[in-house]
Amino acid sequence: MTDKTKQLSADTLAVRAGQVRSHEGEHSELIFASSSYVFADAAEAAARFAGDSPGNIYSRFTNPTVRTFEQRLAALEQGERCIGTSSGMSAILCTMLGLLKSGDHIVSSRSIFGTTVNLLANILPKYGITTTFVDLTNYETWETAITPETKLLFLETPSNPLTEIADISRLAEIAHSKDKLLIVDNCFCTPSLQLPLKLGADIVIHSATKYLDGQGRCVGGAIVGSDALLGEDIYAFLRTGGASMSPFNAWVFLKGLETLSIRMQAHCQNAQQIAEWLNSQKFVKKVYYPGLDSHPQHQLAAEQQSGSGGIVSFEVNGGKEQAWQFIDAIKLFSITANLGDTKSTITHPRTTTHHKLTDEQASEVGIKPGLIRLSVGLEGVSDIIDDLDQAGLNMTK
Ligand SMILES: *Cc1c(COP(=O)(O)O)cnc(C)c1O
Repeated sequence: MTDKTKQLSADTLAVRAGQVRSHEGEHSELIFASSSYVFADAAEAAARFAGDSPGNIYSRFTNPTVRTFEQRLAALEQGERCIGTSSGMSAILCTMLGLLKSGDHIVSSRSIFGTTVNLLANILPKYGITTTFVDLTNYETWETAITPETKLLFLETPSNPLTEIADISRLAEIAHSKDKLLIVDNCFCTPSLQLPLKLGADIVIHSATKYLDGQGRCVGGAIVGSDALLGEDIYAFLRTGGASMSPFNAWVFLKGLETLSIRMQAHCQNAQQIAEWLNSQKFVKKVYYPGLDSHPQHQLAAEQQSGSGGIVSFEVNGGKEQAWQFIDAIKLFSITANLGDTKSTITHPRTTTHHKLTDEQASEVGIKPGLIRLSVGLEGVSDIIDDLDQAGLNMTK
């Protein structure tokens, strides 16, 4: 879809972008369950392999269902190109290994997904790629961490699980003034609430596993950015490295995109009410949610995002024991580390998503033992609050 779709609204693109109907005239998009594709003759096969004629060869390279997902997400993120990947982590891996070589350096926010920390801190150094971690909202430390070897800056905003917000435009200026790239993991907001490319980022990363699917079914990821940045090294790494998205998962995600915006609005509404309710409870020490006046970047969130998101974290009075007691008393929420689901989920970051961190690292990034993270789902908000209330009463006993 080209120029015509550029003028369509995001809601229309979410439903329509990227669809190419087959001769069967199907209304819903097809799942192309085919690992390879046939050629009219030997000459066509040769031309495809030589890259002289466009078209499918093998589903590790391209697949029509994956392409529909890619074009739809690219349209929503306002990027030229999207590459679907087998998971959010493989989206990050393909981006890093596609763009970087031994001797290169990354500056990354400290407050990122635990597995991403592990990749940057423990795995990439084996290949000569090192990372300096900085405070998400301390812009001076971003600047001073940049060296001549630095190739890119990496962050998530809002951060997981503390929902800190970084000024993407400001970090894009810092990156570009020194000729570096800015990469934003937009998992928490999705394009429905935040458009990092419009704010100056060069590449957007997604774990499609979260809100893009939205119903906890499939693992997948995506990379969005310009043709020039993605088309060469990142795509070359993916098609050879093999971290391709499966057509079935692509189909689930592209159907997820059709309802993304209304789901995100409902997640935000429920989360706002829950954050406000938690803020007035005796068993709660502190609530982390960008939609609260008390959030340190409340104003920036309001300018940069079109909603505050579905993730609410809070600290209970006490430590790990009290947090576990609260979680074990919960009835409606699912105890799972996944997020971005229609079903509300509850997790204890310090002993699950962030268990690999040392005590020192955990305290540096503010993952306290009493911290609980909620991914607020789409159940009736009064049922969710009743559940939190009964678990909180259990604590004060
Ligand atoms: C889950 C997650 C990832 C990793 O995605 P997977 O699909 O689990 O590989 C990356 N970044 C963030 C912010 C996440 O929440």
